[in-house]
Parts: sequence; structure tokens; C-alpha cells
Amino acid sequence: MAHGIASTRTDRAHTVRDLLASGGQSYSFEFSAPKTEKGERTLWNAIRRIEAVAPTFVSVTYGAGGSSREGTVRATERIATDTTLTPVAHLTAVDHSLAELRNVIGQYADAGIRNMLAVRGDPPGDPMGEWVRHPSGVDYAADLVRLIKESGDFCVGVAAFPEMHPRSADWDSDVKHFVDKCRAGADFAITQMFFYPEDYLRLRDRVSAAGCATPIIPEIMPVTNIRQIERFAQLSNAAFPPELADRLLAVKDAPAAVRSVGIEYATELCARLMSEEIPGLHFITLNHSTATLEIYENLGLHQRQS
Ligand code: FAD
Repeated sequence: MAHGIASTRTDRAHTVRDLLASGGQSYSFEFSAPKTEKGERTLWNAIRRIEAVAPTFVSVTYGAGGSSREGTVRATERIATDTTLTPVAHLTAVDHSLAELRNVIGQYADAGIRNMLAVRGDPPGDPMGEWVRHPSGVDYAADLVRLIKESGDFCVGVAAFPEMHPRSADWDSDVKHFVDKCRAGADFAITQMFFYPEDYLRLRDRVSAAGCATPIIPEIMPVTNIRQIERFAQLSNAAFPPELADRLLAVKDAPAAVRSVGIEYATELCARLMSEEIPGLHFITLNHSTATLEIYENLGLHQRQS
């Protein structure tokens, strides 16, 4: 293999797996690679503010929303080398041969990254378009999990869908394929964003009934402006709560009030989930720190630094 897969950095000994296995909870934040210099400054401003609350990890999406893959690898490597944060590097199978996937895994390993999130990815352009595997690539996230695990001592996360993956024909096949990813070696899962706690709890029950105990971390995305109502529902296929839409639309001409309603709703969602023995929370930041840090503080999590 071109790169030293066995990580040489020992100062980031903790993996999400070790933490969760010891009964700890994981609190984390998600970023995307920036596309412009201004975006880069915004991202690093957010990273530095989030570093101050010492989260369990931060993750960087892979080529999501049109960001470049090189940018993703660069940003993740810089987090590993220039901050005290533990990065979780996302990796997708889209348009990659096995050799290219191994090369990216090697670059992550060289930067001391031991945690990865293996997601299949969607076809570029239309996320619901036909999935076409790279001629010498892989088909499903489970294959990526196996590839990463074969490449070294990595802790690997996968995606879970509280409202079922939009390509799944029914819940039985959805849960079966999720459990297959876990049996392929996944150590933890992070969900797609959702708005109703019951959706998460039902998924957790279904997975548990299928004999799988892999910890599933809920993903939270606060609504901070009116345009996001439509955008979020499209992004996640998540049912957008009409009562939340009503509360937001009632104050639509006052951006600060819209933001407060979104933060309050997300805080209530987190609090309800935290009363259900969840393994942690994962916050989507959209590369801004203020809203998610406010929720973190509302929940008293900023005092948990270990
Ligand atoms: P898979 O687990 O491979 O599942 C895809 C579909 O195939 C499902 O319907 C599943 O049931 C089915 N399936 C699985 N195995 C089989 C089988 N053997 N036979 C038949 N059917 C099967 N996208 C990005 O581009 N970059 C990112 O960084 C990124 N990060 C994400 C992070 C999180 C937390 C989440 C929830 C999603 C993320 N995504 C990202 C989006 C993700 O790539 C898409 O949602 C994708 O459609 C599904 O990926 P998956 O890993 O769940 O795929």
C-alpha cells in the first residue's frame, strides 16, 4: 500500500469505539470542506470556537454538496495536525476505484486519523438518480466498511436513517442492510437528521430487535432561517413538522426570532433524546458554530469537558 496505513500518531489513541464501549457518550460536530477562501476563514473560525468546548470528535463530509474531495482530505488532515480535536473522516464510494479508495484511506492514516465514516454516497447531480458503481469500485457502504477495516486498525462509523433510506423498498430490507453494515465491522452509526424523536427511537428498537447493538448517534440540525424549511426536507427526506413550520412562519420577518424558535426546537429534541439513554449527539454546523454551540450550552454540555 502506498501510504503507511498503520497510524504513527499515538497521541490520539481514543477512538469513538473505545469511548462508547466504556459507557461514555459522544458529543460531536460536522463540517464540510469549504469551496472559497472566505469559506475557509468561516470554517476555521467555527473550528476554533468548537475546539474550545472539547467535543468528542468533529467530522468532515466527503465531497458532499459539491465540495471537492481534495478539499475534504486537506481540511481533515489540518484538523488532525493543527488542532486538539479528533477528526472523523467521511469517505464515499462515488466514482472511486478500489485503488483510489485505498489511497484516500492511506492519506487519512498518514495524518493520524483513526476514525472514519463509511457512506456509499449519492450519484452526482440527482441524489435519487441511478446508482452506477465505478467499474472497479464498490457498491455499498458495507463494502467500504470491510475495505477500511482490512486497511488497518480503524474505528468505522456508518449512516442510519430514522425515516428509512429513500432507496429502501421497506423497513425489513432497510434494517437488514443496516445490520449487515454493522456485521461488516462498523463500530457506531450516525443518523440522518430528523425532527421527531419517535423516528429515532423506533429505528433503534428495530435494529435492536434484529439483534444488533451498534450504538446509533442521533444527528441534529437546527433551523436558523426560513429558507431552510424546504431545503432541510429535501436534503433529508425528513418530514418537516407542520407545527414547527407554523411557529417559524409566524415570525418570518424577524430573523432573530426565527433563529430562536429553531434553536429552542432543536434543544427540546436533544433533551427528549437525552432522556432515552442515547450514545451521544452529532450536530450539523453548516460550518458555523454559533447556533449549535448555543444548543450545546442550553443542554449543559459545555461543562462536560473531560
Ligand atoms: P448503503 O448502506 O450502501 O445503503 C444504500 C441503499 O442500498 C439503502 O437503501 C440500503 O438499504 C441498500 N442496500 C445496502 N446494501 C444492500 C445490498 N447488499 N443489496 C441491496 N440493497 C442494499 N454523502 C456524501 O456524499 N458525503 C458525505 O460525507 C456524507 N455523509 C453522511 C453522513 C451521515 C451521518 C449520513 C446519514 C449521510 C451522509 N451522506 C453523505 C449521504 C449518504 O451518502 C447517502 O444518504 C446515501 O444514499 C446512503 O449512504 P449509505 O452509506 O447509507 O448507503
